[in-house]
Amino acid sequence: MKDEKCIFCKIANGEIPTNSIYEDEDFNVILDNGPATAGHALILPKEHYANLYELPEDTAAKAMKLAKKVALRLKAVMHCDGLNLVQNNGEVAGQTVNHFHLHVIPRYENDGQTILWKPTEPDDAQLREICANLKMN
Ligand code: AMP
Ligand code: ZN
Repeated sequence: MKDEKCIFCKIANGEIPTNSIYEDEDFNVILDNGPATAGHALILPKEHYANLYELPEDTAAKAMKLAKKVALRLKAVMHCDGLNLVQNNGEVAGQTVNHFHLHVIPRYENDGQTILWKPTEPDDAQLREICANLKMN
């Protein structure tokens, strides 16, 4: 399914010109037009899924396999010193385009970017309670 109002549907499916570095049956990988660093790429599924919750498992698996390929390409061509995978879901988490996308962000010494969080200090009881609530198997 495509969403006619979604800009990433249009970009992923070639209806709007973009700087594409890779395309296959399921994905388009484009350069972010407001990049954190040089080579900042976005992995876009061609089908419309608003976020990770909606993304089918097999598409999620393919996206991660593709992220590895893109990462190796960025390392080889851009000679980055490190790399972040970032994937935002929901406005509170920084999502601005509601079509699933995986950021692949090359990092360079002294690139001036901070893609980090401030660690907090929960006590053991809090961690144990959260762990008990979240147990999946
Ligand atoms: P997020 O904040 O995770 O939703 O990321 C959206 C990203 O899409 C931002 O990094 C934008 O710079 C990027 N972006 C938005 N519109 C375009 C576009 N037309 N072409 C390329 N990148 C875009
Ligand atoms: Zn879309």
